[in-house]
Amino acid sequence: MNILISDGRITEITSKKITSYDHKINGMGKFLTPGLMDSHAHVSSIPGMGFGVEPVAIKHPKLVKAYFEQQPRSFLYHGVTQILDPNPGVSFNYFTSASLRPDYFRCEVLTSKNTFPYVEKRDDLSRSMFTYLIDENAQATEENSVERLIAKIAHSGASCIKLYFEDGYGNANQWATLSTNTLKRIKLSAKKSNLLIVAHANALDMQQLALGAGVDVIAHGMWNWGQYNREKNIPKEISNTLDIMINDEVGYMPTQRVIAGLGEVMLPTITNSPEFSSITPKSLIDWYRTTEAQWFKEELRIGFDGMPDQSISDAFLYGRIGKGNKIIQYLRGSNHPILLASDFPGSPSFANQPGLTTYQEMKAMITAGLSPEEVLAAATINNSKQFKIDDDYGTVEVGKIANLLLLKANPLDSIESWNSIETIILHGKPIARESLVVNK
Ligand SMILES: [Zn+2]
Repeated sequence: MNILISDGRITEITSKKITSYDHKINGMGKFLTPGLMDSHAHVSSIPGMGFGVEPVAIKHPKLVKAYFEQQPRSFLYHGVTQILDPNPGVSFNYFTSASLRPDYFRCEVLTSKNTFPYVEKRDDLSRSMFTYLIDENAQATEENSVERLIAKIAHSGASCIKLYFEDGYGNANQWATLSTNTLKRIKLSAKKSNLLIVAHANALDMQQLALGAGVDVIAHGMWNWGQYNREKNIPKEISNTLDIMINDEVGYMPTQRVIAGLGEVMLPTITNSPEFSSITPKSLIDWYRTTEAQWFKEELRIGFDGMPDQSISDAFLYGRIGKGNKIIQYLRGSNHPILLASDFPGSPSFANQPGLTTYQEMKAMITAGLSPEEVLAAATINNSKQFKIDDDYGTVEVGKIANLLLLKANPLDSIESWNSIETIILHGKPIARESLVVNK
């Protein structure tokens, strides 16, 4: 077929010869796909450092600058042409002001001073990244009420609200969650303002709470439940919860790379990964090898009570990944659309790098049992439909924005084909993949 692109959109798809054009790309023998969408990526968060306003990042302005300059190019390098950022923090203008970058959509975080993630931040600097802090007791007309803040979020141009359902990591439960009444008010106001609700929740009880609150998307895999047993089916209590998710058509983001990122950061060889060298500034890779950069590993070690690094790594890479895989398999069995959502970088782990993490999340979907066709859907049309942008994105179709990829190998033959991108087409403009490699 021949495809005509004008003013950044696909205007014609035909088997006939197109005779009038300014520029031609020869795709003979190659594979044209829609550009990929990662619906859970944090562009303000620096792998190994945390959000750009946090203490470690503040100490290294040069590294931060080098990272932010390369980051949008690294996403494009791996074919990511649309991003949804559920928690943009305050430094996303680094991203949106780049001349070459994926199209950017964002949620804004709605939280309170009594709940996660605010309660976890220990210094004013880290706390300053929360712009929309609700006072649960405020009346609808008051400044920090649910209603006033949601109207503000809608006015800021955001597509969604991010809520956190987290009472403690793993099996801990030391933090309060938003009250049932507050959640009702949020749901009502969000609907009025046409904002979707994306929920951070990864434990069974927290996902149940989120589903009860009528959220639109669960932003994490369900990792925290019982003991992993490869042979056994998931417990009834979990499949009942997943059935609610399926019936209510709530989107599911597996975010398997969060867990993989925690497991891989404990491996001493991770900074030698050849995949980093094309997308991560060398100065930052060098920093990852310093003692200072091991701060997050130290935190994980404390959490695991002095267990050897290899065992900590295995705990993540085997048990929790295994549980996440079982959930994906159950949802797949009911034809529930899975969303490509990596939660890059997922934690301050430097094992996750921009774009690469999205590609690895796609590979993780194959490991979990999805077919290459299902991964293609997860990465394109499923995300577009979920976030109601399928008029513009998600398929190669007349009328849609020309965010496309030209691959050398067929992505329906092998997941590795997604690493054979030759050209990224962004709003009709062709970009050679090689030109996006980081400057050494
Ligand atoms: Zn996230």
